[in-house]
Amino acid sequence: MITIDGSQGEGGGQILRSSLALSMLTGTPFRIEKIRAGRKKPGLLRQHLTAVQAATRVCQARVTGDEIGSTHVTFEPSEVRGGEYAFSIGTAGSTTLVLQTVLLPLLTAKAPSQIVLEGGTHNPHAPPFDFLDRAYLPLVNRMGPKVRATLERAGFFPAGGGRIVVEVKPAATLTGFELLERGVLKRRLAQATVSRLPVDIAERELRLVSKRLGWSDAELQTHEERTSPGPGNVVTLILEHEHVTEVFTGFGEVGRAAETVAADATIACERYVKSGAPAGEYLTDQIMLPLAAAGSGAFRATGLSSHARTHLDLIARFLPVPIRAEQEDTSDVRLIFGA
Ligand code: ATP
Repeated sequence: MITIDGSQGEGGGQILRSSLALSMLTGTPFRIEKIRAGRKKPGLLRQHLTAVQAATRVCQARVTGDEIGSTHVTFEPSEVRGGEYAFSIGTAGSTTLVLQTVLLPLLTAKAPSQIVLEGGTHNPHAPPFDFLDRAYLPLVNRMGPKVRATLERAGFFPAGGGRIVVEVKPAATLTGFELLERGVLKRRLAQATVSRLPVDIAERELRLVSKRLGWSDAELQTHEERTSPGPGNVVTLILEHEHVTEVFTGFGEVGRAAETVAADATIACERYVKSGAPAGEYLTDQIMLPLAAAGSGAFRATGLSSHARTHLDLIARFLPVPIRAEQEDTSDVRLIFGA
């Protein structure tokens, strides 16, 4: 059994989630200590506990420490089984983060899966559904498996109540890919979504996007979400290139001006446009896990956050795959998986 220090680097929830994913994939038991020691409220919160429980179900693991507030967990995986799963977080905790815990092993399971997740679908500090659907999954689908995600109901903090359904057609193995260039720009779209809030919030947000980025009216869209149980607001900027789609998000919160929410997304988008690399900060952080599991491939990233560096260190604890990070002349970094 290997021991993982949950306080290393960023000391966040990803150390736990990726440990679970890699443990299931490789059949390696582990013990994690000091879970989320780098966070204000350390230990397992609802979303992290659901991730542990989801992983336990998917591979019939033997587990200890699986309770709210726990700062250590032991996890001994058994065989990964595709099938029908439903995981409810019970709060606005992120459904996409729970999904990313179980998705990797299910990509190469013997049987297909359907995973229904309930909770938050557009949470700050987590991949929003649109990022999962438009940026992350198309790259995963390039690796052999076919994954389709459907947003049945959006869930915003704090009410939650969202629901996503994910269908996984597994492949025998994962095949790595090369993503070194973006290719030509095919489409830009700015979507401002409001749920149970006045639509003029979305209109103000799009005015700011248009002023800062110079996008045309045809590239701006307001969306009134009518199925979500609580109020919510997000600004989503989508840049669709030939080889990659990137998604930048600003999250509304009580007391935050619409213009500030829109500015969060536009600043991230402008930074990406200035760099030439295909993978932005979050895509880099997340796509390195399936590529390391494939054991081959390469991509260019706009940089390596400390979060991503922590992730690379963790991956190396479970997988023997060599991963090289080569700094380019700019701040871009080339990540190369395999010999
Ligand atoms: P905490 O320990 O603070 O509860 P956490 O469980 O939310 O943390 P982190 O370790 O901070 O987990 O990881 C958050 C994940 O969400 C990372 O994989 C990061 O790439 C992703 N993420 C955060 N913000 C965005 C965003 N705007 N778009 C896409 N992905 C995001």
